[in-house]
Amino acid sequence: MCTCNPKIRSFYCGVGNCRPKGNFIDDLRIVINQYSIENDSNTPDFILAEYLNSCLDSFASAIQKREQWVSKDKNQIDEHLQKI
Ligand SMILES: [Zn+2]
Repeated sequence: MCTCNPKIRSFYCGVGNCRPKGNFIDDLRIVINQYSIENDSNTPDFILAEYLNSCLDSFASAIQKREQWVSKDKNQIDEHLQKI
């Protein structure tokens, strides 16, 4: 747990090397079990953990595609303005 920020003791603050050393999906499984989230959908922890991780991957992919689209759109506008 975080030892660099006295206000934070229950989780890692993410600054510098203050990060968990484990595996993200395994840690998601631990949290899912701690809160008995499996019971809500009668779904095993590993399936829920992989699903949540894939949601984050999909989000990152969508953001990247949006940035590419915005950048492409901006380039087309710039090209159009140069022709005027
Ligand atoms: Zn910390």
